[in-house]
Amino acid sequence: MTTKTTRPAPTGRIVVIGAGYAGLCAAARAGRSTRVTLIAPEERIPNRIRQHEVAAGRTVPKPLIADVLRGRQVTHVQARVTELDLAGRKVFTDTGRAVPYDTLVYAIGSRTAWHEVPGAPERAYGMERAGELRERLAASGTGRVAVVGGGATGIELAAELAEAYPGLRVQLVCMGEVGGRFSAKGRAIVLEAFARLGVELHEHRRVTAVDESGLTTDQGRIEADVVAWAGSFEVSPLAKEAGLAVTETGEVVVDTYLRSVSHPEVYAIGDAAAVTLPGVGRLRKACATAEPMGVYLGKALRRSAQGKGEAEPFEYGYTVHCLSLGRHAGMVQRVGKDDSMRERAYGGRVGKSIKALIVWGVVAMLRF
Ligand SMILES: Cc1cc2nc3c(=O)[nH]c(=O)nc-3n(C[C@H](O)[C@H](O)[C@H](O)COP(=O)(O)OP(=O)(O)OC[C@H]3O[C@@H](n4cnc5c(N)ncnc54)[C@H](O)[C@@H]3O)c2cc1C
Repeated sequence: MTTKTTRPAPTGRIVVIGAGYAGLCAAARAGRSTRVTLIAPEERIPNRIRQHEVAAGRTVPKPLIADVLRGRQVTHVQARVTELDLAGRKVFTDTGRAVPYDTLVYAIGSRTAWHEVPGAPERAYGMERAGELRERLAASGTGRVAVVGGGATGIELAAELAEAYPGLRVQLVCMGEVGGRFSAKGRAIVLEAFARLGVELHEHRRVTAVDESGLTTDQGRIEADVVAWAGSFEVSPLAKEAGLAVTETGEVVVDTYLRSVSHPEVYAIGDAAAVTLPGVGRLRKACATAEPMGVYLGKALRRSAQGKGEAEPFEYGYTVHCLSLGRHAGMVQRVGKDDSMRERAYGGRVGKSIKALIVWGVVAMLRF
């Protein structure tokens, strides 16, 4: 059950950190009627959900942040935040600026988690380095690649590489079963695509080291010329270092209004936030959750800045998981509101079309 809250306090100077799906959605909406400062290092949107396509040499739309924010009262400071001063209500950037705020939106996303595997950060390509992986593979297009991670990112990356480089031997290595989270039907669609694309599976293997000739696992060696890392995500220690209430793994703990439980003038959204909703549970790190959080918060801040309207708590329910399986196939898995698997899943062109619509839609949603 949702309860109404009292009229929110005026927002004052709003600073949004991060130009991912969450931060841009929030800044673009709040900036319709109030001034916002957005701090993020990029000139173009990161559009992270398509990094596996970048790695495979595809052309991926990454519009200019200035175009997404055109006509909105948003000033983009192109910099990286290095420190939050919660008592003094300002943030410091790597360009030497101190930016004051009354309301702070913390939306700095997440990054590849290396899980302290020796050699992995230096020798494996995380999706932050998708552009470098693309150049490395374009130079040869043959040999052996090992993709580590059997979740959505690993599956999408392995399929994309196998399709783009038919001369490449693609091996997918994971601790459990590939796509083990999906229903039997959903997993069958993934396995059928891998069989068609010639992706080799090495399941139930824990990677213990990465070196110049491949992987050491608890079940023996896997030789590879190139290693791509597509395991889980972790967050920056910035929030914890500043003294915000965080989870054991560093995500900012927020209430159902997405406000920090320790500092109510700070909001956290997207992968950097730990959001737990009644009847749904802890939201997972995903574009699918980051955008709705940004949309909600941007509208709430706008209403608040205008001194009108009452904010309802943030509400969210899952409906589907979508995967691309190369450029010609996809998989759409039905899930319940709480992200529990339903048996129903769609593959082939239906799956591909729905996924394509979603990846187009998430960019359109940033602004509208
Ligand atoms: C290959 C791949 C495929 C994916 N596919 C899907 C999918 O199909 N569906 C799905 O739901 N999710 C998918 N995800 C996950 C999804 O990309 C993330 O959950 C999502 O990007 C989180 O959005 P966000 O806005 O919280 O952060 P991000 O998109 O990570 O953006 C963070 C922003 O903060 C900025 N930033 C970081 N640190 C600082 C700092 N110190 N100072 C200033 N700015 C900073 C970054 O530069 C960036 O602008 C995929 C991820 C990958 C890697």
